Amino acid sequence: MTAPASWLDLPPDHPFGVATLPYGVFATGAGTPRVGVRVGEQVLDVAAVAEADGRVPELAAAFGAATLNPLLSLGRPAWRRARAWLTELLTQPDRRAVVAAHLVPLDRVRLSLPIDVADYVDFYASEYHASNVGRIFRPDSPPLTPNWKHLPIGYHGRAGTVVVSGTEIRRPRGQRRPPGAATPTFGPSQALDIEAELGFVVGQATELGTPVSVDEADEHLFGVVLLNDWSARDIQAWEYVPLGPFLGKSFATSISAWVVPLDALAAARVPVPGQDPEPLPYLRGTKPPQGLDIRCEVELNGTVISRPTYRDMYWSPEQMLAHMTVNGARLRDGDLFASGTISGPRDDSLGCLLELTRNGTQPLRLPDGSTRGYLTDGDRVTLRAWAPGPAGARVGLGEVTGTIVPPR
Ligand code: MN
Repeated sequence: MTAPASWLDLPPDHPFGVATLPYGVFATGAGTPRVGVRVGEQVLDVAAVAEADGRVPELAAAFGAATLNPLLSLGRPAWRRARAWLTELLTQPDRRAVVAAHLVPLDRVRLSLPIDVADYVDFYASEYHASNVGRIFRPDSPPLTPNWKHLPIGYHGRAGTVVVSGTEIRRPRGQRRPPGAATPTFGPSQALDIEAELGFVVGQATELGTPVSVDEADEHLFGVVLLNDWSARDIQAWEYVPLGPFLGKSFATSISAWVVPLDALAAARVPVPGQDPEPLPYLRGTKPPQGLDIRCEVELNGTVISRPTYRDMYWSPEQMLAHMTVNGARLRDGDLFASGTISGPRDDSLGCLLELTRNGTQPLRLPDGSTRGYLTDGDRVTLRAWAPGPAGARVGLGEVTGTIVPPR
């Protein structure tokens, strides 16, 4: 499959060429939010162009909505139709006249949270991350817990505090127990961290009591966002036993404004590193599990501090979705599940400061001479990523950024 050329004359390696076509929600001036598709440095007003073009009446209402949820509800056949229609519009020169009037420069739009997040789950799918965290938090036990290679571990997070890229992140207050102390104190987190993750956006809701198999997962996986699971390590370390993460995570989770369709990532599917022992039958599909070759970058105040590699993740997205529903839990349009921190095998491919600084004991040195164990107020963190597309194209995942502001 080759990437068709666009009459927009974008450079062939542009991360938002016609091989990407991510969806977001945008507004201009006093206008109402509606669905947009990014192409190059412009946003296509798809509701307007659908009306002008007239060939996709079944999609027009979804494109006019203020979130992607109506589009998510339509399911994969409609998602495919939408993508084929967009590709035709942007590659056939005779469509140029109808389309060009509805392209808006990116610097003139306001982007909002693209989905009304239904349920939010965060997994823990990197063996490197889970092992590193195990060594730091439980130095006297094996790095991986006995269940880790049998099921994709996860927890339910807080959907209502998922925010769009650019939203300020207020340092949380909470309980934390200083090292060696017998009792906790209360105050602003002193160990504010990031977690570089991929988020999967789910559509085509299911009925309660109906598990989704690994092979059926594809029908529900709409696309991916970049996700920063902000984490207060001191609050987390004191509260997490025995029920898992709670207030150390739920103060904010940032996602990118653009949702890249899974269909744009077909050329980036790669086998997962290998699963031993073999998972139980419900975690196996008819094909071997496939991960994603996505190259990430973590930037702190303008300096790249890590390059996590998604292809090193142990569990596939399809296995995570199958596990999440195997008890009969239903899927809702707008469900979001995240991969867990993306950490690879090398010191420069770790996805959080907990690992990069060994829980603050080996601070990073930044070019301005300052050091960071954890984040300081005013710090700006940006995650970026891209994946190989068809025929040498590059599929951009955009960025998710956030700046730390002091507690109220
Ligand atoms: Mn996480």
